[in-house]
This record gives sequence, structure tokens and C-alpha cells, in this order.
Amino acid sequence: DSMALLTVENLSIRFGGIVALDGVSFTVGEDDLVGLIGPNGAGKTTVFNVLSRLYTPHSGRITFAGQNLLAQRPAGIVRLGMARTFQNLQLFPSMTVLENVLVGAHTLGRSDIVSTAIGLPHVVKEEQRLHERATAVLELLHLQPYAYRVAGSLPYGIQKRGDIARALASRPKLLLLDEPAAGLNPAEVEELAELILGIRRFSGASILLVEHHMALVMRICRRIVVLDFGKKIAEGTPEEVQNDPAVIEAYLGEPVESY
Ligand code: ATP
Repeated sequence: DSMALLTVENLSIRFGGIVALDGVSFTVGEDDLVGLIGPNGAGKTTVFNVLSRLYTPHSGRITFAGQNLLAQRPAGIVRLGMARTFQNLQLFPSMTVLENVLVGAHTLGRSDIVSTAIGLPHVVKEEQRLHERATAVLELLHLQPYAYRVAGSLPYGIQKRGDIARALASRPKLLLLDEPAAGLNPAEVEELAELILGIRRFSGASILLVEHHMALVMRICRRIVVLDFGKKIAEGTPEEVQNDPAVIEAYLGEPVESY
């Protein structure tokens, strides 16, 4: 698939005796929204940790935006255009939401410390650009009312949205979302579905979504990859995956109810 933004081929990684990933392959296209699901311990977070270069796999190839991802250092990943959220919030709690998002945007900046200190014109321009980027991201995630609020003082659902904004501020080609619905109430999950669809439509980022909230996954994903004990057991549209006996047996248990 020459149009794929991300191609994962035959990925395997062990921790001691545990085979966390066993020959996993999948792709994420440009402008795509792919779900990665499976029972606890299936290897979903491990996929994210390999993609962010926190873990080095024992075998496999990963091509991202035309580059060999495994040749990159973790710090190079954001520059290549990949950003992620974690299950635990990565916000600085004593900073405002806007400041947090600016931190995310600054990974884009090219100005060195000296030119920043003496306020060279190109630096001032760049600061303006990053500010504009941060403002656009806050708008996209409906966070303008909270821009000047200290992140740690806000309700959990708002902080989780702030965390997505932080990741999005680096202008990723691919956004990895790790359980964005966890801990949210039904109204917040409903809003999250719209926000994720909005991100895909308006930010230009493809999304890879790890999530246990099946109604959300089935509603918004174009394609779904299912892992079980480190192996890919199914891949397809939400419809195909929901009706796949192997997926029902390993994970879903019963038909998914919409909301
Ligand atoms: P959950 O839905 O519970 O988050 P998951 O699908 O994300 O599960 P992983 O966290 O990727 O699953 O874990 C896959 C397997 O690899 C598990 O057996 C886990 O214990 C193991 N594992 C993951 N990271 C490590 C590590 N750093 N050291 C040892 N074992 C690990």
C-alpha cells in the first residue's frame, strides 16, 4: 500500500517469557481513523510504545511518512509527525491550558536560545505562528473557555481534552490516542466522538485509537485492528469486526450496543 502513512510489518516483542506482540502487521492511511482493540494485555499499549520508540521490537519493520521509524530516536518521532496521548495525563498541572498547548507547539519551533533571547524578528514571527497554532487547536477542541485556567484545577474530562490538544499542537500527521474515553461520563464520550471526527476532518491528522469503549470505536473508526495475546486476530470495518466470531469469542462477548 504505497499510500499508507504508517506501515507496520511483522512486529514482535517479548518481555521475559511474555510475547507481547507476535508478528503484528497493519497500516494506517492518510486521512484515516483506525481503531486498535482487544482484551486487557493484548498488546495495544505496547504497539504505541514501539511506535513512539520507547520500546525496540525484536523483529519487524515500521515505515512512517516514508521513513524507517526504527532508525529514529524517540525525540525524532515528533519531528517526523507523530504525537500521542498516554493513559495518564501528560499536562503540567500548574500551567494554564494555553501554556500546556504552547509547550506542545514548541516542539515545532526551530529558533535557538540566543535568537530567542535577543528577540530576532524571525523568532517573534515564529512565536506568533505557534500562538496561532495553539489558538486553532484550542478552538478545534472547544477549549477556548479554559485557555487561561490552570490545568490541574479543571474537571478530569476537560484535562483529557487538554491533553489531546497538547499532542495535536505539534501538528502531527498521525495522532495516537490511548484510551481517550476512559473515565469520561456518557455526555463527555458523546462529545469526544465529535471532537475526534473533527480532528480528523480539520487538522489533517490520521488517528490511531486504542479504546475499550466499543460503542465509540464502532461509531467513529473506518477500520479496526483486533489484537489478542499479541496476535492480530481480525481486521476490517466496524461491521465486519463486530460480526467476526473470533472477535466476539476473544473480546466482545456480546453484540455491541450503540448509544
Ligand atoms: P490494556 O487494555 O490493559 O491497557 P494492552 O492491550 O494495552 O492492555 P499491553 O499493556 O500492551 O496490553 O501489554 C501486553 C503484554 O505485555 C502484557 O502481558 C503486559 O504485562 C506485557 N508488558 C507490556 N509492557 C511490559 C514491560 N515493560 N515489561 C514487562 N511486560 C510488559
